[in-house]
Amino acid sequence: FAKDAGRNTYRFFTEQMNANADEYLRIRTGLRQALERGEFLLHYQPQIVVDSGRVIGAEALIRWNHPELGLLAPGRFISIAEDSGLIVPIGEWVLGEACRQCAAWQAEGLPRITIAVNLSAVQFKRGDLLEVVTRALRQSKLDPSCLELEMTESALVKDSSTVMKTVERLKSLGVIFSIDDFGTGYSSLAYLKQFKVDKLKIDQSFVREITQSASDAAIVTAIVALARSLGLKTVAEGIESKEVLDCLRSCGCDEAQGYHLGRPMPAGAFAEILRRVTNPQPVQ
Ligand code: C2E
Ligand code: MG
Ligand code: MG
Ligand code: MG
Repeated sequence: FAKDAGRNTYRFFTEQMNANADEYLRIRTGLRQALERGEFLLHYQPQIVVDSGRVIGAEALIRWNHPELGLLAPGRFISIAEDSGLIVPIGEWVLGEACRQCAAWQAEGLPRITIAVNLSAVQFKRGDLLEVVTRALRQSKLDPSCLELEMTESALVKDSSTVMKTVERLKSLGVIFSIDDFGTGYSSLAYLKQFKVDKLKIDQSFVREITQSASDAAIVTAIVALARSLGLKTVAEGIESKEVLDCLRSCGCDEAQGYHLGRPMPAGAFAEILRRVTNPQPVQ
């Protein structure tokens, strides 16, 4: 019996591995053409001020409309794009499109928000990130202070002197920088002295169970205190209920993002949200 189970498990794993290898190849091959075929799109997730509930930003999150596999989340293809270096042109497209969309909303007379774009460590390594961002800003005519760049702790520790120069130059233009998934990446806080970032995005893993977990609440409180004393803002990610939002408010967190406040959505749906910000509906 045990032997049978073992064999079945073995067969299951090889089938799973073949399926994975097959998907990996399909994705890797498809990525090359996806840009020219216009298969990428951005979804936008609202970011709100915890105290007022006001929408002040959106995080741009890439999606891939794969011809056979359907709409793919970044978890399915970003690391493959990083391994192959294709993240560089893809990331350039994301920056251009996010800036264009944000400027277009402003041109429509919708409230001014910041647009947050995720950067991969690989984009820093290539070295022309400064030029890519400057070009995206110039072509869209977006005010640099409306662009926020999110990077993870790992991007900051690798080859930090080049990264630091790029961050400093972009910051001097007015671009905002935030550390994504803060608290999960690297055990040293030394980089916070060198990189003058603006915001810490508290990782979902500390936020999700904050109402039940005293240690999660302690970690979030400590991150908020650290951020305050360094003059940085905090954004909590992964708010899935009102209870969690209330808890974050009492922790003193500045901004929030999560399914409870709005899922990532297509540009048209996000514009609807912005229209309601300008024209508040009368209370029934
Ligand atoms: P991230 O930057 O930490 O983005 C937050 C992720 O959490 C998003 O997943 C978002 O949909 C999800 N999320 C937001 N609120 C909630 C919530 O309340 N509950 C739960 N369970 N999840 C929530 P998504 O869109 O699948 O993106 C995953 C990751 O892929 C991102 O994590 C980011 O690291 C990466 N990514 C997304 N877009 C880009 C991009 O344009 N370039 C690069 N380099 N990476 C990207
Ligand atoms: Mg992010
Ligand atoms: Mg995050
Ligand atoms: Mg993440």
